[in-house]
Amino acid sequence: MVTDPRTGKRRPHPMSLAIDEIVPVSQGGSPFEFANTRPTHWICNARRGDGTRKSAPTSLPLPQPWEL
Ligand SMILES: [Zn+2]
Repeated sequence: MVTDPRTGKRRPHPMSLAIDEIVPVSQGGSPFEFANTRPTHWICNARRGDGTRKSAPTSLPLPQPWEL
């Protein structure tokens, strides 16, 4: 967890692991179906929101223990 300098709120580390739904839950995708999920950075997921997935996922480094 880190403190967001803009809001002062605690949030996950920006590069920590998050699970992205390829088809967003808001568009009928399942967050529990493995084929509909992929690993992403927390910050990438937060920035993308429910936007469409036009670009292929970039390669991700393995999450470091101190980021989890
Ligand atoms: Zn990323």
